[in-house]
Order: sequence, then structure tokens, then C-alpha cells
Amino acid sequence: MNVKSSDAVVSARGARRWSGGHPWIYRSDVEQRPDGPPSAVRVLDRRGAELGWALWSPASEISLRLLDHDPAARIDAEWWHVRIARAIARRAPLAGAASAFRLIHGEGDGLPSLNCDRYDRWLVVQLASAGLESFRAPIVDALTELTGASGILARNDVPLRSREGLERETVLLAGDVPREIEVHENGVRYLAAPWTGQKTGAFLDQRENRRLVGEVARGEALDCFSYHGSFALHLARGASRVTALDSSAAALERAAGNAALNGLSNIDCVEANAFDFLRQQQRAGISYDTIVLDPPAFAKTRSTVNSALRGYKEINLRALRILAPGGLLFTASCSFHLGRSLFMEMLQAAAADSGRRVALRAVTAQPLDHPELLTVPETGYLKGALLEAME
Ligand code: SAH
Repeated sequence: MNVKSSDAVVSARGARRWSGGHPWIYRSDVEQRPDGPPSAVRVLDRRGAELGWALWSPASEISLRLLDHDPAARIDAEWWHVRIARAIARRAPLAGAASAFRLIHGEGDGLPSLNCDRYDRWLVVQLASAGLESFRAPIVDALTELTGASGILARNDVPLRSREGLERETVLLAGDVPREIEVHENGVRYLAAPWTGQKTGAFLDQRENRRLVGEVARGEALDCFSYHGSFALHLARGASRVTALDSSAAALERAAGNAALNGLSNIDCVEANAFDFLRQQQRAGISYDTIVLDPPAFAKTRSTVNSALRGYKEINLRALRILAPGGLLFTASCSFHLGRSLFMEMLQAAAADSGRRVALRAVTAQPLDHPELLTVPETGYLKGALLEAME
């Protein structure tokens, strides 16, 4: 096999990453760097055997992202159309229950560094690598053809893009996208903010957990880290009163708007630091029948896992202490660096310190539209548990 200067040649360790089911090959495992611009490149091992095609990112530590194991594949408009169509088809079962969900979850869908979320008739995409950027046009075309979207917005403001040598920007790629989009989810309506909201406008990954908690909620409920009230709206259907708590006044303003949109008058918005609030309620002897803890990622990097664990344990311990007998706590972590086993150990320690008998009622993973691949840990970050204070 003739090696061309536009090909990538990878080390044995690099090749093993692909045979082990992981799509990334790092810079240190690229023995011949392709001489062309970011795009799709052919990848060979050091003996000249063809391994397939990958996205090429010259500036990044993640040099190659596997697209196709088939050396005969052609990464053209048709290829993107087929791969994207497959991802969208997987989501068909969700369409009845919600009008907002993820259509493409990057590596989880075999479309590395590409995310796409649907909000009703509009799409929000994230193109997170230089190689992927070179296919912006066929991706937008395929999405438009397959979904008939009225507009496509790129929330390319993710930090990852800097490491790829790409600009961070929020730009319209097709049609028009409103500032606010009303979507529904398991019978609840809310306004997503695609241009300015967190992530692509809402936290779609918690949809199934919100339904789960909505089904069991009762009595006095507390939704800490409420953002625009997503859990609170579901709690309010079963609970008598709900406190939606967040440290952001802007988020709570939207939570109040969402409560009104659903005709719910039993949600109180409270602007506070969750750590302080939980401590105060404990001191005041106030208890809750249902509590949700959905904090932001406390562990942003591997080196902060220990301090993050202290934070997670503190809020979980305090929440367990103020649960009424028989009360339920749904607790989550979206820190990639805090794996599932550490999360469960942390909960065990919090339960022990609470001095209560705490039952594990459910452990939750990512929903259908955010596939977590067992061979690609980076596709998984969200884990949750439903706990019951038995007495
Ligand atoms: N539960 C939400 C998503 C939560 S995102 C949903 O399902 O849509 C995390 C939220 O925590 C953000 O809105 C942020 O403003 C809030 N936050 C961060 N630190 C906080 C703190 N110490 N106390 C209270 N809220 C906090």
C-alpha cells in the first residue's frame, strides 16, 4: 500500500485505540501527520494496512477521530446524509413524548465532535473540531433535508473549539431561529433559550429523570439548582408546593415564566446558594417530602475530583437530613470526571453520616438520545439515583 503525504500513519498504540472501540487517536500516536488542511483523511498503520477514515485536526491533541472503518468509504455529502439519518431514526420513539431532544450525540452516534439538539422546528448544533468544520455545508444540508428544520443555529461557543484552533461563536447557519422556543416534555411546557441559554438552550439530558421524579413527587418539594424550573414543573404536578431554588436571578425569572406557561401557581422561586439554603432549612427544622439535586459539574477537571466530592457529599448529606420520613431524593451528577462508582460511594458515605436508613430506589443512566458507549467513556457524564429515607 502506497502511503501518500495526505495520509495519517499511526503507531501500534494508536491503532489499538480503534480496535478497542474508541474513536480518538492522540497526537503522540500519529507517526506521519497528513500534510493537508483539516478534513477527512485516510489512516494507515505503520505496516501500511488501511484502518479507515478519520477527521483530521492539526492543532488539537486529539488528532484523529474515526469516521469509518471501511477503507473504501467516501466521506462525501451522501456519507453524512446516511450517518445523520441513522442517528435521527433512533430518536423516533421520543417524538410523541417531547418536542425537544438530542438528535446527534457526537461519538455516541458515530459522528465525532458533532452535537445536534432539536427544539420543535429548530435545530441547534455544535461543531467541536476543525476536521468537522470542513464538512459544515454537507452537515447543514443533510440536517435540513432530513428534518425540514426552519432554522439551524450553531452554538459554537464551547471551550473545546479553542483547542482546535477554531473561533468560539454563536452563528446562524440556516433559516432563522427565535430567541425563545416553546417546547413540551411529558406534558409540561417550557421555553428554551437557544441563543443564550445554558448548553444549547436547555438540559435535555435530564428529560427521563424529570418524568421519573414527576411520577413519584408529593408533599412539600424542593428543586435545588432549578435553572429555568425544569424539574420543578414536573414536581408541581404531584407535590402540593414546590420551591424552585437557583443562585441565578435570570434563570429564576424564566422559571417563573415557565410556571405561568403551565398554569401552575404552587411554585415559589427562591434565589439562594443551595449550600446555604440547605443548611438554613436544617437549622430551622424544615423538612421536605421530595428533593431534587441537579447541580452543575463540580468536577470540571480530573484534579478537582476530590474537592468536588466534598461538595457533592455535603449537599446530599444535607438533603438527606431534611427529608421527611418516607421522603424521596433524586440526586444527579453531570461531572464526567466523577465516575458512576465514585458517585455511588459518595452517596453511601452521605447516607452513613445522615444516620438514617436510606434505600436505593433507582439508578439512572443517560437516555436514548444521549447514548453512552461502553468503549467511549467520554460519551457518558450523567448519572442519577433516586433515594428514599425509610424512617
Ligand atoms: N436542573 C436543571 C439544570 C440545572 S443547571 C434542569 O434540569 O434544567 C445548574 C444550575 O445550578 C444553574 O442554573 C446555576 O445557576 C445553578 N447553580 C450553580 N451553583 C449554584 C449554587 N451554589 N446554588 C444554587 N444554584 C446554583
